[in-house]
Amino acid sequence: MIERLMTAILRQMAGKYTQLENIGHFIEVPPGDPSRELMLYLHIPFCVVLCPFCSFHRVRYREDRAVHYFEVLRKEIRLAHAAGFRFGEVYVGGGTPTVEPDELAKTLSLVRSLNPIKRVSIETNPDDLIPERLEVLRDAGVNRVSVGVQSLDDTLLHEMQRRDKYGSGSEIRQRLADVQGMFDTLNVDLIFNLPHQTLDMLREDVDVLTREIGVDQISCYPLMGAHTTQKAMKKDMGHVTYGREKQFYYDILDRLPEGYQPSSAWCFSRGTDAIDEYIIEHEDYIGLGSGAMSYYKGTLYAASFSINRYMRLVEAEHSGITRYSRFSDFDRMRYSFLMSFFGLKVNKAATEERWGGRFASKLWRDFAAFKLIGAIRDDGENWYLTRKGMYLWVLMMREFFIAVSNFRDVMRLGISSELDPEDRDELIGNG
Ligand code: SF4
Repeated sequence: MIERLMTAILRQMAGKYTQLENIGHFIEVPPGDPSRELMLYLHIPFCVVLCPFCSFHRVRYREDRAVHYFEVLRKEIRLAHAAGFRFGEVYVGGGTPTVEPDELAKTLSLVRSLNPIKRVSIETNPDDLIPERLEVLRDAGVNRVSVGVQSLDDTLLHEMQRRDKYGSGSEIRQRLADVQGMFDTLNVDLIFNLPHQTLDMLREDVDVLTREIGVDQISCYPLMGAHTTQKAMKKDMGHVTYGREKQFYYDILDRLPEGYQPSSAWCFSRGTDAIDEYIIEHEDYIGLGSGAMSYYKGTLYAASFSINRYMRLVEAEHSGITRYSRFSDFDRMRYSFLMSFFGLKVNKAATEERWGGRFASKLWRDFAAFKLIGAIRDDGENWYLTRKGMYLWVLMMREFFIAVSNFRDVMRLGISSELDPEDRDELIGNG
């Protein structure tokens, strides 16, 4: 009951946050402050295969197009530097950022030459887990590699159309074992609540990754479907229901071996040195690349999802941003509440100082409700999530990311003329 209520409220809230106004032309983010280090997100929208459950902004990989895109992205990085932005951390997502490792290394070298970068995280896929391929990225300063494995079960991999492209579960296990230890943090993404997944399948995956291979970190996401991908998911993977999520999630918490601790509601790290997901530490961030989102000074921005338009804009020395949504003061606090509690613990004094002492008083209803149901506790110095709170935050983040995916869906429909015919059919539901 509580879960359904939370989900409904969050769905409405997240839908509101992701109503980005189309201004019909480009818009510049206000100038940066060179004394402040932000997080930089880079988006690489190319994949060799397009998975049916995925609603990220991605198109089928073509070498010439990808190489040109990286050149334009480097131009945008120089423009951001000239506008006063400085970055202390980089996260590269996609798509598949490692489709062109040399181009990615060149891009990261440029970012490092302009900024005092401390940490670089990249996403990749199992078929790029080849030591020689990753060495070039380690040499370019990458500290954290996050691999989208999703499952090690062959039946589920086949249903997700990943079995042929990325290999069997046992092949992926071997590739993970080969690169474990190459970077400060090797993270593996798993999905729970896939239509034909059983508890035993999930337990086997968690055991192999944590007890056998001993990866530094696992991130366990609930299956999330945007409106358009739900059709493709149902066709290829089966009917999606949310009734088993709770059991799966608590089972993961209980299954993790000693030494693995939650570092967010769905990310679990071995030891204390692993590098965490970016979203918790950095509320303000700048996203560069087609379809990248930025959150800066209370405004959410989105760059054009049309790769052609994005490249034209940046080549003409403009920003690629074509949409934005300005949050009210109250919405900024609510957004901060959602994001900061996802990191499990919130320091009271630092948060109140940041919000001029108004945080708990303005959000008193949220605090009262979550305390009443036993999701948030207060130890005097910090507010923190209980086990129940962690589960509720997983549900809320799921709704938030579904809303973001729905926004991406609408944007991707607008670029159907840029897609290969088979991808266009999939996007509009003819596949
Ligand atoms: S899940 Fe990963 S590999 Fe598959 S289409 Fe999405 S971004 Fe590409």
